[in-house]
Amino acid sequence: MNKVYVAFGTNMGDKNKNIEKAIEMMKDRGLKVIKISQVYKTEPYGYTAQPEFLNGVLEAITSLDAVDVLKTLLEIEKDMGRVREFKWGPRIIDLDILFFNDDVIDEKDLKVPHPDMQNREFVLKPLCEIAPDFIHPVLKKSIKNMLLELNLKNKQKWEG
Ligand code: ATP
Ligand code: CA
Ligand code: CA
Repeated sequence: MNKVYVAFGTNMGDKNKNIEKAIEMMKDRGLKVIKISQVYKTEPYGYTAQPEFLNGVLEAITSLDAVDVLKTLLEIEKDMGRVREFKWGPRIIDLDILFFNDDVIDEKDLKVPHPDMQNREFVLKPLCEIAPDFIHPVLKKSIKNMLLELNLKNKQKWEG
């Protein structure tokens, strides 16, 4: 069995419903959901002229391999009606693999751990609720420490 952490985000339509629906679909398609974080309201990342997001993360157990988890997540996004217009644009649902066991995957269409997670408070904060001591297999840091470092970095940025 494999352990996977999935990040979810939405900023279109009935956002709470979108999250509920996506989680139900993951359960129906081979992901046994073990833990779910709280849902956080977040300002948009990257392209900022769009509605605010709801973000969270979950932990699941699955017999699917990483490629099949990615396929499943992309299928759920599609079945929920997501249309890709431009990078970081508005979306009904976005499902990203954060970690897959301790695996490091560097394929064109699949990078695990998610390469930008250390820079995203909307990922680290909910992840810290459900997996504070999980060690990032590349950075060799706990989620707790990654969140502390990011907060420190942001603070220094504000203080100049
Ligand atoms: P970001 O990945 O920076 O959060 P995004 O989620 O907006 O950006 P998408 O348009 O949703 O990007 O996804 C583009 C592609 O990213 C997907 O089709 C998928 O093949 C690829 N991808 C690579 N690594 C991952 C991963 N760990 N989880 C999900 N998709 C991934
Ligand atoms: Ca994403
Ligand atoms: Ca994505």
